[in-house]
Amino acid sequence: MSVLEVDGLTKRFGGLVAVDDFSLDVEQGEIVGLIGPNGSGKSTVFNCIMSIYDVTEGTIQFNGDAITDDKTHEIVNKGLSRVSQESNPIDLYPVAGNIKLFTLPNSIRSLRGGASDEEIYEYAARIDIEDKLQEMPDELPHADVRRLEIAKALATEPEMLLLDEPFAGMNQAEINELAGQIERFREEGMTIVVVDHNMGGLMNLVDRVVVLNNGEMLAAGSPEEIAENQRVQEAYLAGEGL
Ligand code: ADP
Ligand code: MG
Repeated sequence: MSVLEVDGLTKRFGGLVAVDDFSLDVEQGEIVGLIGPNGSGKSTVFNCIMSIYDVTEGTIQFNGDAITDDKTHEIVNKGLSRVSQESNPIDLYPVAGNIKLFTLPNSIRSLRGGASDEEIYEYAARIDIEDKLQEMPDELPHADVRRLEIAKALATEPEMLLLDEPFAGMNQAEINELAGQIERFREEGMTIVVVDHNMGGLMNLVDRVVVLNNGEMLAAGSPEEIAENQRVQEAYLAGEGL
């Protein structure tokens, strides 16, 4: 069964068509890669799914339930969470406080003061930052700040995760480690879409790849097929390459 169904999604900003008639079905337990050059519309797709942006046209379903007109917190409460491309920890709070804060808004747990210390430890442990809980975000290396952002999403107890450029700014060892952690989320039963501007971190992680170019789906296939696809190579020629 499809967990996420995006059908005919179009998003215009004035005269700019950022996403053009884009459709995507994600099955339970899949890891799908969504790639495309910078500005191709990847983050806009996520922002439309999460109702950060209103869609211009098209529908979005999560577990068979139309979420197109839901508010963001309603979507999160239904089990869909997104880690955005930018990190935005609150520097006044340690890692633990940042994770806890993210469990507060609009959740039933807010009635009892958010997640317990044990729950916060568990969220952090699932992304291997449980030894950093007392550290301040502005003292953490970049890769750990990115992991904190993922821990915040885990604190909403998602059944599906949208990860926007999780590997950006990481070295190869950090990319490999994070790919292993994402693979573990799948083993725990999660469904995942990972955005990247190239194939780098995704090649060995994803089941299939969807390529966006100028807001349109350019190609879809296995990582091997996409790596060899001539049209995809050409779309990347002006940019940074696959
Ligand atoms: P990607 O994530 O693939 O790099 P984006 O989805 O961020 O691409 O952007 C796709 C296009 O939509 C770009 O031309 C970008 O400038 C435009 N865009 C994105 N968000 C907005 C916005 N809030 N207002 C106006 N234009 C936007
Ligand atoms: Mg983006």
